[in-house]
Amino acid sequence: LSKEKWFSRLEEIVGAEYVLYPTHDDFSKYEHDETEDLKFPPTVVVRPDDARQVQEIVKLAASEKIPVVPRGGGTGLSGGALAVRGGILLTLERMNRILEIDDQNFFAVVQPGLITQVFQETLEARGLFYPPDPASRGSCTIGGNIAENAGGPRALKYGVTKDYIYGLKAVLANGEAVTFGGKRLKDVTGYNLVQLLVGSEGTLGVVTEATIKLLPFPKYHRTLLAPFQSVQKAAESVPAIMQRGIIPCALEFMENDALKAIENYRGVKVRFSDYPALLLIEVDGNNEDVLDEEIQSIAEVLETNDVSDVFVAENAAQQKEIWDLRRSAGEAVKSISPYKEEDTVVPRSKLPELVAGIHQICDRWGLRAISYGHAGDGNLHCNILKSGLSDEKWEKELPLAAEEILRLTVSLGGTISGEHGIGYTQKRFLPLAMKEAELEVIRSIKKALDPDNILNPDKAVY
Ligand SMILES: Cc1cc2nc3c(=O)[nH]c(=O)nc-3n(C[C@H](O)[C@H](O)[C@H](O)COP(=O)(O)OP(=O)(O)OC[C@H]3O[C@@H](n4cnc5c(N)ncnc54)[C@H](O)[C@@H]3O)c2cc1C
Repeated sequence: LSKEKWFSRLEEIVGAEYVLYPTHDDFSKYEHDETEDLKFPPTVVVRPDDARQVQEIVKLAASEKIPVVPRGGGTGLSGGALAVRGGILLTLERMNRILEIDDQNFFAVVQPGLITQVFQETLEARGLFYPPDPASRGSCTIGGNIAENAGGPRALKYGVTKDYIYGLKAVLANGEAVTFGGKRLKDVTGYNLVQLLVGSEGTLGVVTEATIKLLPFPKYHRTLLAPFQSVQKAAESVPAIMQRGIIPCALEFMENDALKAIENYRGVKVRFSDYPALLLIEVDGNNEDVLDEEIQSIAEVLETNDVSDVFVAENAAQQKEIWDLRRSAGEAVKSISPYKEEDTVVPRSKLPELVAGIHQICDRWGLRAISYGHAGDGNLHCNILKSGLSDEKWEKELPLAAEEILRLTVSLGGTISGEHGIGYTQKRFLPLAMKEAELEVIRSIKKALDPDNILNPDKAVY
């Protein structure tokens, strides 16, 4: 078909007002996501309203061999939702409905464009809980979370997105609509195809519906801040807390530069911002006495690990204030200068070595890095800042320093992405983390499901 013909076919499928061309006012927002410094204009943006429309769009793309890039909230940090070869940008944002909340079986059925925070707040009002909690929850979508297997601070106790996805409806690259899994806590009927799609970054299928496991909402929380004189001491107290038999629902780490960045960005004084390292620890449950005992035990453990002070939030307002600050860490650090973020993850006991190693590498290259992240999961977001460097030095030396950091991460038993995915930006680093035989498994799966490479080409597969 000529370009005009497939444009008009798209208009037939979704309605002319939902096909956006480069002259449209909103078009430019679809040229980038939240990954620094990347811009790729799609040929056309299409905004379907239901799974049948998605299927028709993918069928058209398959017959014309046009790339199709699924997109949720566009908050991705590895360039996954970018139309790097042009083609159709398929945004799922209109498909944002909660189709069912089943409080007999504790499952919800939702469309992929649902904003994660909207889902969580709707559930909470009914005493139900969906734990995965990316800091971008106000603008990312369930579909994007599934495609990236998003995490967040609650992974230590509650796991990540994959642990809640029990069923998926999706459209494959050949335009077939499939249903994998369902409202079943146990299912060994065939390969685990639900989990094949989770974390596949839009390269194997477009998710059109998800069946998600729910939990009862924990009624109470206790939140504590603990400053330390060294990163080492902060990190050492993490396993000690768990050895006491307590699994916090969040155990977050921020180094001094991150605290200072939040302070500048928010224009407020951040508690303990003069200390080298800060832990944010939260426990949750339904029995306040138990939580008070747990917080007391945690404080005792911290004292044996040379904590400098302990602050326990006294009410919900103080808890919110602490979390607002933590959630703004990413934006605060990124507001300083252009940056490149590495989403490193190591076994949690290796965190001090990772933090120290990152500083050594950056010092050697004359770069500045600020790290914060999920200490309980060993997942550290290391932001290398351009501040003050010439474009030439930045472009030449940043990839070399980044590669050294990722090599260090792998040598510590870790890997190159904990929750942001491989997408476009991290693809070339995949061989640092996976051997040829392992990469070949990924390539074979991609070839089997998408032989013409139309679904999100140039992402996640090396
Ligand atoms: C300030 C900030 C904080 C963040 N904090 C966290 C955090 O704490 N934890 C974390 O894990 N991530 C975090 N992220 C990263 C990002 O929010 C997550 O990766 C999120 O899951 C992306 O969702 P999205 O809807 O924005 O997806 P997009 O960015 O639109 O897309 C991401 C990927 O998903 C694919 N995709 C989207 N929808 C579908 C679909 N329906 N079917 C198939 N593929 C699809 C896209 O093709 C792309 O590959 C943060 C980002 C920002 C900007």
